[in-house]
Amino acid sequence: MPVKVGVLALQGDVREHVGMLTRLGADVLLVRRPEELSSVQGLVLPGGESSVIDKLSRAFGMQQPIRAAIAAGLPVYGTCAGLILLADRVTDGIAGQETFGGLAVTVRRNAFGSQVDSFETELMVPTLGEPPVHAVFIRAPLVVDSGPGVETLATLADGRIVAVRQGLLLGTAFHPEVTGETRFHELFLDAVRSA
Ligand code: GLN
Repeated sequence: MPVKVGVLALQGDVREHVGMLTRLGADVLLVRRPEELSSVQGLVLPGGESSVIDKLSRAFGMQQPIRAAIAAGLPVYGTCAGLILLADRVTDGIAGQETFGGLAVTVRRNAFGSQVDSFETELMVPTLGEPPVHAVFIRAPLVVDSGPGVETLATLADGRIVAVRQGLLLGTAFHPEVTGETRFHELFLDAVRSA
């Protein structure tokens, strides 16, 4: 039986995640309503614009159901804006910006500033082994503080944290879904199967 996972489809690079998860054999559902959320075994929060996804999730009545699902142990993988939405705290958000939370980290939005809009680099990710991950950062956040129980999966060469895991919650500041890097989505699907 393939696992049934959802991609929150309010805004962002939904299609790239759907393509990746489908290639990995999952049954993928676009999630926009509480009924859809309750039918999936895991959820991806895509890259995009976290403040927009936040506002839309409240307008669609999805914020509380997503918070409740995370609290009940739903495996979630957030990339970039999705990592921001999964963080308990965000700095440099727009006025009134909220998150779903669950991941005991503080994330700084647009942490690389306007000078460095996007860049690509190779990341060593010990959990994944060789080869290194070719990581694409687009107006990316950084994890600037993380609580106990949060595992750092990857840092930049200078030590700044760009991938974390806490139990069944996974977050990356970069976008494996756009480069064909499958290993983070496989970790997510492993978490879904283990849940
Ligand atoms: N800067 C965006 C935000 O604040 C994130 C960018 C991305 O997801 N590539 O949500």
